[in-house]
Amino acid sequence: MKVTLLSHTIDPEAVVAAAINQCYSAKGGEELKENISTEKRERLIGIVMNSGHLSTIEHASFTFAVEGVSRALTHQLVRHRVASFSQQSQRYVKFKNGEFDYIIPPKISADKNLKKKFEQKIEGLGRFYEEMLNSKIPAEDARSILPNACETKIVFTMNARSLLNFFEHRLCIRAQQEIREMAGKMLDLVNPVAPNIFKFAGPSCETQKICWEGDLSCGKWKGIRGGELRVRNSGGDK
Ligand SMILES: Cc1cc2nc3c(=O)[nH]c(=O)nc-3n(C[C@H](O)[C@H](O)[C@H](O)COP(=O)(O)OP(=O)(O)OC[C@H]3O[C@@H](n4cnc5c(N)ncnc54)[C@H](O)[C@@H]3O)c2cc1C
Repeated sequence: MKVTLLSHTIDPEAVVAAAINQCYSAKGGEELKENISTEKRERLIGIVMNSGHLSTIEHASFTFAVEGVSRALTHQLVRHRVASFSQQSQRYVKFKNGEFDYIIPPKISADKNLKKKFEQKIEGLGRFYEEMLNSKIPAEDARSILPNACETKIVFTMNARSLLNFFEHRLCIRAQQEIREMAGKMLDLVNPVAPNIFKFAGPSCETQKICWEGDLSCGKWKGIRGGELRVRNSGGDK
């Protein structure tokens, strides 16, 4: 898996601080960015992060290029609707000779026997894919036989608020292993660029001391001082 931070808002925290400043100031334009010391920037961002006034951090956005991941991962990724996506097409990019890259989940590749069977099944799928293309079946139909394991590449952009939501869900131990690994790499890339924002990133047990996972909880909250397992509703009881 390779995760690249392709681009981001030039100075994300300066833009966010200017946006926050606008809420409390009669100033406008370039003046909004003037006289904002590092300390003031940190304080302003801290205020919105703690109060949940998070529309102000939507002004910073981050574009990633990811490769060497499975279609199973990207299917989960694109469920995050507050983002923009551009993915390698299986209609336009045909696999030559029925050969395609694929991702074997670590728990399967750890078992030699299962790994071998997995590889054989993929080879069989590849051969049938090729047979269909040779029979003039268009790639958009032949791809129906390709598995979730198929390697893919995707470029996507998220703003800081959406990213924090993404990290909350996908850095949780309950998230699937591959997307959790990708989320970790993404956080490593954005943290140095906007540390005052992304120091608040993580699963809710770490950021709010609350686990919302109910019976499916991993129990990590028990090891967090003041941690608790909560449900969002109590059946309408007041
Ligand atoms: C451990 C785990 C298990 C999961 N299991 C399943 C599963 O079994 N089946 C399944 O289908 N999905 C599953 N998901 C996906 C999950 O339900 C979400 O679709 C996904 O995490 C995207 O989250 P989101 O909607 O908060 O993000 P985004 O789509 O980026 O939305 C961000 C926020 O914007 C708001 N928002 C966005 N769109 C709307 C809208 N139309 N109306 C109102 N508010 C909106 C919401 O507040 C939302 O939280 C799972 C996710 C995780 C982490």
